[in-house]
Amino acid sequence: MSGETGYYAPNVGMEGIAEARLSSANLVHNLNVLRSHAPGDMMAMVKADAYGHGLVETAVRTVRAGAEWIGVATLAEALDLYHRGGITETPIMVVFFLPTQTQQLRAAIEAGVNLGVSSVEQAEAAAEQARLAGRRVRFHWKVDTGTTRGGSPEVDWPLLGEKLYELEREGVAEIVAQWSHLARAEELGEANEYQKAAFARAWDVAKGIGLEPRLRHFANSAAILGDPETHFDLTRPGIALFGSNPIPGHDADLRPVMELRSRVSIVKRNPAGAGVGYGHTHRLDRDTTTALVPIGYADGIHRASSGSGRVWLRGEIRPVIGRVSMDQVIVDCGDDEVRAGDEVVFFGFSDDTPSADDWARWSGTIGNEIYTGIGTRVPRRWID
Ligand SMILES: *Cc1c(COP(=O)(O)O)cnc(C)c1O
Repeated sequence: MSGETGYYAPNVGMEGIAEARLSSANLVHNLNVLRSHAPGDMMAMVKADAYGHGLVETAVRTVRAGAEWIGVATLAEALDLYHRGGITETPIMVVFFLPTQTQQLRAAIEAGVNLGVSSVEQAEAAAEQARLAGRRVRFHWKVDTGTTRGGSPEVDWPLLGEKLYELEREGVAEIVAQWSHLARAEELGEANEYQKAAFARAWDVAKGIGLEPRLRHFANSAAILGDPETHFDLTRPGIALFGSNPIPGHDADLRPVMELRSRVSIVKRNPAGAGVGYGHTHRLDRDTTTALVPIGYADGIHRASSGSGRVWLRGEIRPVIGRVSMDQVIVDCGDDEVRAGDEVVFFGFSDDTPSADDWARWSGTIGNEIYTGIGTRVPRRWID
């Protein structure tokens, strides 16, 4: 397999300035924690460049750690994993596709990629490409049980079910699974009963038509940790694999896979009263040493965190002051001695540093958006 060099740089603009360091050991740890909650098969969700960690490099490590399936959002992601990543033995599922993606559909079917299917149009478009390829397309029938997002709505279950049955009889499709997605998994308890009941009805509809999918899957990270009744044959963890806690306040023993570091570029001693950064949203109330760190919102330090962010620098947690710029932030170092070149950790592996979930709170978002927002010019480096 390729993807084992441990280094991934889609765009090397921040080479020598900032780095996202990645830990295989922590990825394996998280996978094992999830496995202890849900012992069945696991589909590691590595869409969106593996939540910013690097698609191929992360998927290869996840497979090596024992994931039985790989899940991605798009056909292009699946094809990249198959051809560039060499993931040809572990089955890959694509969450969605457009009926108009004919060439990619054909290539995906030839690569044996499993397709999430939510509509008759999708089923027909994929079946047409399967006929042309002389192959069977593997479908995972997605049912909308209450997200009002992807998946076939309940009124369409009989229609789509009959279509899938017909394509299976024709020998052009295999209905591998039925699946759904939870809207409120992190709330635990009652919030999910409605969707669980709908998922049971969808299964009855499939059985009534004569379909016999061998798999059912429903649970994302939060549901894996919080609700065993959603586990079925296969679970689909995403964010928990990367160490963010999907259920606020729940102690899950997950470890961050990514650490984001940069270095001090310029140190200044400034007089009391100086305005800091764009808009002078912060003014120094005393003589202050500031450290400029050359990483900004283009690299994933959300502008919305202006005035709230904190970094680790020379053994202390220090405030980021003023507005976050596109390529730089300013750190208040008080009267401490700091030097150009000193390491700055935005979020790290150690409990002494802030976490991505801290940055999520400071930015008014969730860990998922922090990780997926780390800019493409920041090189990713696996450290083990
Ligand atoms: C992203 C995704 C997941 C993983 O969700 P997390 O909350 O990150 O665990 C699971 N299933 C589907 C369909 C997804 O798109």
